[in-house]
Amino acid sequence: MSGVEIGPTLRVAVPVPLYGGFDYLDLDATDATPIGSRVLVRFGKRRLVGVVLETEVKSDLPRERLRPIEARLDDAPVFDDELLGLLRWAAGYYHHPIGEALATALPVALRRAKTDQTPNRHRGWQAVPSDTANEPVAHAKRQHELLDVIRTGVHPVAHSHLLARFGSIHAPLKALERRGLIEEVDLPGALEQGSAGTAPALTDMQREAVEQLISRGEGFHPTLLEGVTGSGKTEVYCRQMAEVLAANRQVLFLAPEIGLTPQLIERLRTRFDASIGVLHSQRSDGERADVWRAARAGDADIVIGTRSAVFTPMPRLGLIVVDEEHDGSYKQQDGFRYHARDVALRRAQQCDIPIVLGSATPALESLHNADRSRFAHLKLPERATGAAMPPVRVIDIRSRPLLGGLSDPMLAHIERHLTAGNQVMVFINRRGYAPALSCHDCGWIAPCERCDAPLTLHGGGARLQCHHCGAHQNTPAQCPGCGSKQLIALGAGTERVAGALRSRFPDVRLARFDRDSVARKGRLESQLADVASGETQLLVGTQMLAKGHDFARLTCVAVLDVDGGLFSADFRAAEHMAQLVTQVAGRAGRSDLPGEVWLQTRHPEHPLLHRLLSGGYDAFARAALAERREAALPPFGYLCLLRAEAQDIQSPQAFLEQAAATIHSDEQIACWGPVPAPMQRRAGRFRAHLLLHSSTRARLHPALDHWQRVLAELPGARRVRWSIDVDPQDL
Ligand code: ADP
Ligand code: ZN
Ligand code: ZN
Repeated sequence: MSGVEIGPTLRVAVPVPLYGGFDYLDLDATDATPIGSRVLVRFGKRRLVGVVLETEVKSDLPRERLRPIEARLDDAPVFDDELLGLLRWAAGYYHHPIGEALATALPVALRRAKTDQTPNRHRGWQAVPSDTANEPVAHAKRQHELLDVIRTGVHPVAHSHLLARFGSIHAPLKALERRGLIEEVDLPGALEQGSAGTAPALTDMQREAVEQLISRGEGFHPTLLEGVTGSGKTEVYCRQMAEVLAANRQVLFLAPEIGLTPQLIERLRTRFDASIGVLHSQRSDGERADVWRAARAGDADIVIGTRSAVFTPMPRLGLIVVDEEHDGSYKQQDGFRYHARDVALRRAQQCDIPIVLGSATPALESLHNADRSRFAHLKLPERATGAAMPPVRVIDIRSRPLLGGLSDPMLAHIERHLTAGNQVMVFINRRGYAPALSCHDCGWIAPCERCDAPLTLHGGGARLQCHHCGAHQNTPAQCPGCGSKQLIALGAGTERVAGALRSRFPDVRLARFDRDSVARKGRLESQLADVASGETQLLVGTQMLAKGHDFARLTCVAVLDVDGGLFSADFRAAEHMAQLVTQVAGRAGRSDLPGEVWLQTRHPEHPLLHRLLSGGYDAFARAALAERREAALPPFGYLCLLRAEAQDIQSPQAFLEQAAATIHSDEQIACWGPVPAPMQRRAGRFRAHLLLHSSTRARLHPALDHWQRVLAELPGARRVRWSIDVDPQDL
């Protein structure tokens, strides 16, 4: 051995779209870089942050060809063995490069090459005892609401929590501070300290569910908790969490992306005398990284977060809860396309701990797992408060005029509830003013130049925008085809519906919830807070409104268009429609005021809709499962989608044909396609895909292992961008 030896060989996962790790020399022979820690390496001409996968590697390359790592970035591993094992499994299962999978799992701040951690400041607010003379004036609503939250519990409240709950809070907080009612404090870290609160007495059904959950003890026990909206699933989770926390174990609580977290965090914060780490969109990169570190150190008792939180290191993990487990936002739709519910299941199995999946509308996959006794199946068929489930009825809109997407009978129902002083939610799954601009004389429809899709009208009809590539332009004054000035907006989106409702009910306060209206930071939170306080009476929005919100005075839900889900080419469309209708319907009549739900449709006799309305989600799901079984579609078959796209129309097709030729199809594995994607051209690129179908995972995954090795070598691979999607959600 010569003197050039600096250290043993490390295998490092580098965030590049290549499978496998890369070998580097360690800096030091005596003090090895630990597995799971970050290192800075040169990769080609770039400097990248990698993660050490193995030490003492026997490299295929001669030592003199290996480069040493440039620097160590951590003293202790960022990924512990458990998490690294999970991520290796996930990268393998989803057939995604390990380096990119690990980078996806890391908080953004830790993906950067920084060694020194400048400590982030964590602000909080606490109440100051004072005499009542200083209380805010009665109409300063937000000040009262903030004060209520800050005065609940015995610990200061994190600034980020107030932001997530109310949106814009600067002015009211300053006002409360001036009055001497609250003061700002520095919190010791990124975690929030909860306070013990009282639990309600359980209903009989809740008690039974809790007993079943707790009696099973500590090992891997997946449970599907199917409870109608408002049945008190959260209370059931809380009881099991209490057991786990009492045993000094950590709880990971996953929730879907939008809207759910503020109310949920507030509930947990006022319930458990525990430290809580929250990973939501209102937190800065630095704060998220701090929560991650605190969780890894075992300091966070509870971690609440969305999809990516499934990868939080938690050395004392004792329970995973996946709330609204059917929710589509658990599946990452680009890059590392993992499904957080499925990864959570694997993690629970690996850690040998219980996991609870909760939903009012379980995914068909989960129901099937319950049917096969892979999951225990607990049900809460009634609302905890005793409130009745709202009746769901249809309005046949065939040959009825629509005003801004609303039929006369629908407007009459809305008016009735508003007059009674209650809240109404109007749901339409389309943002913008109208989904298309058409010429009245020749039928021309304004197309996107770069996508196979019409442009959406925005700004009251003044602008055209593409929802797929973002292209935008002003609305033309006349038809480019025939010169006619008779251009008409086809259909209605949230903007048009909101406009029609505003002119019909000018004295009612209305808020619109869609990606455009809540784009400004804090806007969603402040609008939701105004609904919760009762100030806003009329809500118009997209699926953003379907999730988890609990508004006491909401008595009427209007769904303007369910027909899209009845006639889609995507085999999951009907399932999603049924879940959405059931979820939005569940927002109505949650407390003592009875609710009702109205659906507008042109197909009142459609069997799917009929089944959903007469038998509820359960009847729908049974029928849908039978159809899936017939067609051998998931959960009775397994799918993998190979996507390819390019600037020209031939390359994706050519590449996919080459890919198809490398698969040995037989009775157990079928190759469907290649076919053009449903929207073939998007943002100027042509897209096609190839679907692999198998009746068993055991056959599909070896085929994918083979693919993973050969695809990059195919002659057509360099002409396209391609990706593998295991268990694809939308086709
Ligand atoms: P879900 O998560 O199933 O939609 P929640 O847990 O949010 O339901 O409960 C719905 C409502 O019922 C909440 O307002 C909650 O406070 C209330 N609730 C839950 N359990 C009970 C109980 N045992 N007694 C009284 N109210 C309850
Ligand atoms: Zn025309
Ligand atoms: Zn476009």
